[in-house]
Amino acid sequence: MRQRPLFKRERRPTRAIRRILLIGLGAFALGTALWQVLPGSPADRPIDSDAGNTEIPLTLEAIDTAERSASKPSKAEMTASAQPVSLESRPNYDIPGEREALEAIESPGTNTAAVEPPTATTAPPEPEPIEERTVTVRSGDTLSTIFEKAGLGYSDVLQVLDLGEEAKQLERLRPGETLVLMTDDGDEFAGLKYDLNANTELNIFRDKGDSLVAEISDLPSEKRLVSAGGTISGSLYQSAIDIGVPPAQVMQLAEIFGWKVDFIRDVRNGDQFRLIYEVREREGERLGTGQIIAAEYVNRGEHYKAVRYTSPDGTTGYYEPDGSNLERGFLRYPVDFSRISSNFNPKRLHPIHNTVRPHNGVDLAAPTGTPVKSAGAGRVTFIGWKHGYGRVIQVRHDSEYETLYAHMSGFNSELKRGSTIKKSETIGYVGMTGAATGPHLHYEFRVNGKPRDPLKVDLPEANPIASKNRQDFLAQTSQALDQLARIQIDVEGEQPVHVARNEHPSSGANVD
Ligand SMILES: [Zn+2]
Repeated sequence: MRQRPLFKRERRPTRAIRRILLIGLGAFALGTALWQVLPGSPADRPIDSDAGNTEIPLTLEAIDTAERSASKPSKAEMTASAQPVSLESRPNYDIPGEREALEAIESPGTNTAAVEPPTATTAPPEPEPIEERTVTVRSGDTLSTIFEKAGLGYSDVLQVLDLGEEAKQLERLRPGETLVLMTDDGDEFAGLKYDLNANTELNIFRDKGDSLVAEISDLPSEKRLVSAGGTISGSLYQSAIDIGVPPAQVMQLAEIFGWKVDFIRDVRNGDQFRLIYEVREREGERLGTGQIIAAEYVNRGEHYKAVRYTSPDGTTGYYEPDGSNLERGFLRYPVDFSRISSNFNPKRLHPIHNTVRPHNGVDLAAPTGTPVKSAGAGRVTFIGWKHGYGRVIQVRHDSEYETLYAHMSGFNSELKRGSTIKKSETIGYVGMTGAATGPHLHYEFRVNGKPRDPLKVDLPEANPIASKNRQDFLAQTSQALDQLARIQIDVEGEQPVHVARNEHPSSGANVD
C-alpha cells in the first residue's frame, strides 16, 4: 500500500545534490559512513557516548535550513547536509536506498566528526573492506557451529565468550534469531552484532590494538509524524481502524475530544476525523506509536480541533487553536473501575445499616490495590480513618471544589495533611475498610460544600494557555494545525507529514 505525499514540495535541488553526493561518494561513503555509525565500531567513539540516543529532534530550525537549501544549493550547504538534521525536514522518501544512505551520513547522536563531510572535490581514501553476513540461528545451532559453518575458528568463539556477561548471552541463542558476522579482507573474524532485545544490541569488534571488545548499545530508531483522515461509517473505532489508524491512537483521539463529543451517542455517519501522530521506526519497521500531535473531529458539521502543546514549564496538554484547554480540571473517574456498584442517591437505603441514608457519592467497584488518583490538583485536608468511611482522603481543590475518597486499603505513603497533589496523582489504593461489603472506592464530589453526583456534575475546564506562553503556543502549534487541514480524507493508510515541531526538552514525549 503506497503512501501518498500530502502535497508536492519543490525539493529537486536538494534531491539532486543528494544524488550527486551518493553517486560521487559511491560505495565508500556508504561503506565508511555505515561502518562509522555502527555502534561499537572502531571509530573514535567514546564508550559512554550517547550514540544510542537517536531521537530525532523536531526542530523548527531544521525545517528552515531545509527550506533555504532547497531554494539555492551551494557547496557550503552541501557540507552542511552532513550535519544532523531533522528527518522531518527531508523530502519524501521515495528513492529506494536514498533514505538509508542519508541516515547513515546524518545519523544524529553519532560522532559526526568521524564522518568526513562529503565535498565534490576531495576523493576519500580507501576503506578497509569488512564483509558482513547475516546468519539465522537454526535448531541445534550454537555459537561454535555457527562460527564453524562460517569458516571461523574455535579460538574466536572462546575469545568472544570470554568478553564478559553480555557476550555470554551468545551461549543461549535461539532458533530464528539472527547474528551479523563480520570478517576482514583476510577472512579473519572481525566482529559480530546481535540484538539482545528490541532496543539494545551487542557489538563485538576489534579495537585499535586488534583486541576484541564487547559493547552494548541502543539500537537506533527514528521518530516521525504520520497522519490519517477518514469519514465515520458506524463507530469511530471501526472507521478509524479501517483506514489503518492504530487502536491506541483511536483511543487517544476519543479521549482528547471526550469532553466535546460523546463518542457513544453523538457520533453520526458522515462525521470526519483527522489526526497527526508520532511513530518510532527502525529501518522502516514500526517499533511503536506515540502521542497525537494534532487532531480534528467534525461532529454533525461542528469542527473540534486539538493540538498538543508543552509549555516552557513542562506542562503538556491538548488545547483548542485559540488556547482554551480541551481537558477538564478534574478526572471524571479517579479509579479504573469494573462497574458502578452504587449510584449517587440522596434517598438510598443503606445496605449495611438498613436505614434511609443518603449516598452522597458513587461507589466504583475495583479490585483491592487498584490505584486511586486525585481527581484534580489540590491540597490534602484529611488523611486517616473516619468511622464508616474507613481509610479516607479529602482533597480541597479550590474555594469551590472538594473531593473525598473512602474505604481505601492504604495511602500513598508520601502524603500527609497539607500535601499538595497534582491531578491524576496516586493518593491511595482501593480497599474495603470501614463499612464496605466489597472492595470499591466511595467517591464524593462537593461543590461549595454540597454533595453532587460525581458522574453528572459539570466539571470546570482546565486552565487555558497562560498569557505569558501565548506567543510560544501559537508559534509551536501553527505548523501542526496547518498540516492538519491538509490531511486527505478517506485515503487508506497513513499519510506522511513533513511538519517540524519544537518540543520543550522537559516534555519527554515518549514513543514506546
Ligand atoms: Zn459509597
